[in-house]
Amino acid sequence: LPPRRVAILGATGSIGTNTLKVLAAFPQRFRLMGLTAHNNWDALKKLILQHQPKWCILTDPESQSTMPTISGMAHLKTNVYFGPDALNKLVRAADIDIVVNAIVGAAGLQGSWAVLETGKTLALANKETLVMAGPLVMALTKKSGARLLPIDSEPSAIFQILAERGVESVERVVLTASGGPFRGKKRDALAKVTPEEALRHPTWKMGPKITIDSATLMNKALEIVEARWLFGLRPEQIAVILHPESIVHSFVEFKDGSVLAQLSPPDMQLPIQYALLHPERLPGPAKRLAWEDLRGLTFEQADQETFPAIQLGWEVARRGGTCGAVLNAANEIAVERFLAGTLAFLDIVDVCHALVASHPFNPEPTLTELLAADRWAREEAARWQPRKLPRPPKS
Ligand code: NAD
Ligand code: MG
Repeated sequence: LPPRRVAILGATGSIGTNTLKVLAAFPQRFRLMGLTAHNNWDALKKLILQHQPKWCILTDPESQSTMPTISGMAHLKTNVYFGPDALNKLVRAADIDIVVNAIVGAAGLQGSWAVLETGKTLALANKETLVMAGPLVMALTKKSGARLLPIDSEPSAIFQILAERGVESVERVVLTASGGPFRGKKRDALAKVTPEEALRHPTWKMGPKITIDSATLMNKALEIVEARWLFGLRPEQIAVILHPESIVHSFVEFKDGSVLAQLSPPDMQLPIQYALLHPERLPGPAKRLAWEDLRGLTFEQADQETFPAIQLGWEVARRGGTCGAVLNAANEIAVERFLAGTLAFLDIVDVCHALVASHPFNPEPTLTELLAADRWAREEAARWQPRKLPRPPKS
């Protein structure tokens, strides 16, 4: 078998780093051809020196002017390019077979789209691709004959359980959620939480954006929408349950009442490896379940009053159209503002709720219209102010 030639979009992040570890474990199976990062030149330079891929891209066009001189790298075979068009060219290059999309946020959509257009294999961590444009992305996948393999652990679990069977035999899927650092807290306890507290995830080590999404449970809302389009499920077929150990990555309940689950310790190397080697299963670098230490797995219902994001997920999955693009963009900006200290934790979901409810809804948007909805929601979220409660009268 010739090695599969791989490109990683967003190679310097948490999923990107784990993907590199998986590739390193299977040197006969994979050849790393290209890497992208946004503007972290130092991190990318390390990767260039270590892997010497054919292509390296910094997607932020500004990064060209700020790039330091590449001392000691002139002898390397790596070509460095700049800007989003370079990413497009990389993805379409004839000697790339599989693209791992590990970019965070709506910025990942363009790369996903380009891979799917070429009919190649897309290993997708960037759930925002499906949240923003699920129906168009799935239609494109079908039309081009591309393969779309999920890396996000919950859809990967469902994908592994279904093993390419259709969803006709499925009654429901149950997405598990760790509950994040604020599980068990009530709403009033969350009014003043700091970015530092919200970034302290109990089970997963991830980039800052998805870590905040896990604290608000917006991550589960995004995954409800992701699963709806990826598997063609009706929103009412998607349930959520809290599971603080993050060992069961999802359940599938079949029509006859039988329930199958996928279990493994919280380690993204496994779903990454599964997508890359699919459908093969080989010993790899991911942590294995320590059966001798296992005592119990616990589950609880999500507190939807404290974490209203989940309801918003179902609503967006039900309404479709422009709702996903607006939800995602509003959330990205709200998370940025929370991390910058200009928005309170509980306001993150409020912004998203307000903008999904008030936006000019289009039930069947084109890609251009979705990108316009994304821009609209970004501008609105950037200037959104929480409603001030009327002051109590002076006594
Ligand atoms: P991260 O912040 O650690 O890394 C993000 C990567 O994207 C970096 O390489 C960065 O250079 C690049 N990037 C950032 N902005 C960009 C832009 N505007 N254009 C192009 N590239 C850009 O993020 P992460 O935690 O690795 O998450 C990546 C994706 O995977 C997200 O969609 C996330 O929801 C999903 N995901 C992550 C995990 C996890 O364990 N980290 C689990 C499931 C799903
Ligand atoms: Mg997930």
